[in-house]
Amino acid sequence: MINNVTIVGGGSAGWMTAATLLSQFPDKNITLVESPNISNIGVGESTVAGNQSGFAGIVNWLNLIGIDDRDFMPHCDAIYKLSIAFENWYRKDSGTFHYPFGQPRFLPNMGWNVHSYDRLNAWHLKKIFYPETPVSDYAEWFYPAMTLVNQNKSLFTDNFSPSFGRTTLEQDELNNAVQLCSTHTYQFDASKLGIWLKDNYCKAKHPNNFTHILAEVKEIPMNDNGIKHLVLDDGRRLEADLFIDCTGFKSLLLTEAFGVPFITIENYIPNNYAWATKIPYKDPETQIVNYTLCTAIENGWTWEIPLWSRMGSGYVFSDKFISTQAALREFKQELRKKGYENVEDLEYRLIPMRCGIQSKLWVKNTCAIGLAAGFIEPLQSNGIHNIYQFLFNLCHSLSREHISEWDRTEFTTKCHDDFYGFASIVAFTYALSQRDDTEYWKEINNREFPIHNSVGISKHLHEIYVSKNFGEELNPEHSAVHCMAAGMNWNPIDTHTLKYNNNIREKIEDIKNLSDSNIQQIEERKKKWNEQIKDFPSPYQYLKNNIHINT
Ligand code: FAD
Repeated sequence: MINNVTIVGGGSAGWMTAATLLSQFPDKNITLVESPNISNIGVGESTVAGNQSGFAGIVNWLNLIGIDDRDFMPHCDAIYKLSIAFENWYRKDSGTFHYPFGQPRFLPNMGWNVHSYDRLNAWHLKKIFYPETPVSDYAEWFYPAMTLVNQNKSLFTDNFSPSFGRTTLEQDELNNAVQLCSTHTYQFDASKLGIWLKDNYCKAKHPNNFTHILAEVKEIPMNDNGIKHLVLDDGRRLEADLFIDCTGFKSLLLTEAFGVPFITIENYIPNNYAWATKIPYKDPETQIVNYTLCTAIENGWTWEIPLWSRMGSGYVFSDKFISTQAALREFKQELRKKGYENVEDLEYRLIPMRCGIQSKLWVKNTCAIGLAAGFIEPLQSNGIHNIYQFLFNLCHSLSREHISEWDRTEFTTKCHDDFYGFASIVAFTYALSQRDDTEYWKEINNREFPIHNSVGISKHLHEIYVSKNFGEELNPEHSAVHCMAAGMNWNPIDTHTLKYNNNIREKIEDIKNLSDSNIQQIEERKKKWNEQIKDFPSPYQYLKNNIHINT
């Protein structure tokens, strides 16, 4: 029976772990020890929406532990996020496509009436008949959230927020499709979330069974059960039934004390460093947009993540292709190109990344959460996602009360599934790119991605497109994969498919007529959606009036 849990590390993983365990197991004693001298990673700003590709989102975690937007958002520099934008990923200067969150919305009669071809393929038909259609058009066809993104309008209004108004909107579904079909997540300062959880959740709500210690773990004596106790720099000893390693990339417990082998994912992910900076706003009204922007450049990609008080930006790259100093110059040049001023005056931090996962995530009396457990890379905002997803797995194991080797193995297996599933989606973004303008992109073009891996990118493509034999509906839950594939000009059907299929060849004119009719209806629907939201507030106005009221 696990009654006493000690968490080592006070980054966002440590505090999210403490808050989760306190909320789900109020009878357990939770201790968190963090070093006052070792700083946390200090990045982590963009998060993942729920119900995408079968994933849970941070909204699920906030619900699990009972936190409302108005509790945490004002203290964590938080804004809402509706989409991820990918700029120049398909080819150099190819423009931007989006992966908006929410369910794709179809026309009632959309489809291919010769066979029951899927409704998402209706756009791919358009692309066949009108090849000049830009790759950005796909998301705009199906995702009402794109209307909000394009006009820079808030999803939430005076009569609709995450906690009220949905039932009323549902009474007039057609006229409220944009709000009903869009899904939100957040951009926030993960370090500030940790501080908020410490003061307002762990300490404030659980004064009797939560202990916070500021000290550095100096020694870790071991015995047959695993860690005997922790020795702190002030001489204290900490015992526990379960130790949780939240010490970041260093992984003091699993890697250093237990020597658990770490599995690199170099074969999925080309990058191992990031430069990060914080940029003051010139005009928050226009700079606070509904999405994270990821721009592919010469040796990696840059992120721009608007928060309430500033923009977060960084350059993710590989030092196999460019030195860290040359990467900094490239990053600054990109910021200037984007119109940022005083680029030389900003502070830049170099962050080495350990990309991969522990081969075992729970050994004897110790498990790991956060960067100590593993990290893919920042693309698609997966770091915090892996924290709450692994925590959910941990809660499931702890509910069984008695922990055996079977439970430990089950925890590792579940976390590995979550991790590799997401890693394959991140890798997919690289794999489908046709950039070949530098050695970095040429290497990616020639890379052997782990296609035989059970969760490899090829399996995603194969399962979703090929083995469904073009005759079944694409699963709309895999919206990330659809949007990225279309954005990189990878389509499940093409002119050869049309010709190859006899029945279709005979009726190609009918198909074109159907496609033209779809195009016309979609254009009308877009106009209607645009009209419906034209008086919505901007994200900045909504946040100022409803979330960041006193700032
Ligand atoms: P850390 O923040 O490194 O915390 C480690 C803690 O361990 C610290 O408190 C430290 O004091 C403590 N510690 C270490 N040694 C000792 C010791 N001996 N004794 C006591 N305490 C000790 N995630 C996202 O979801 N979205 C993003 O946009 C995103 N961007 C990222 C960009 C980059 C470049 C990187 C590297 C990561 C990004 N992440 C992102 C991941 C995200 O930052 C982390 O998942 C998250 O912040 C959790 O970090 P952590 O708590 O595991 O580790």
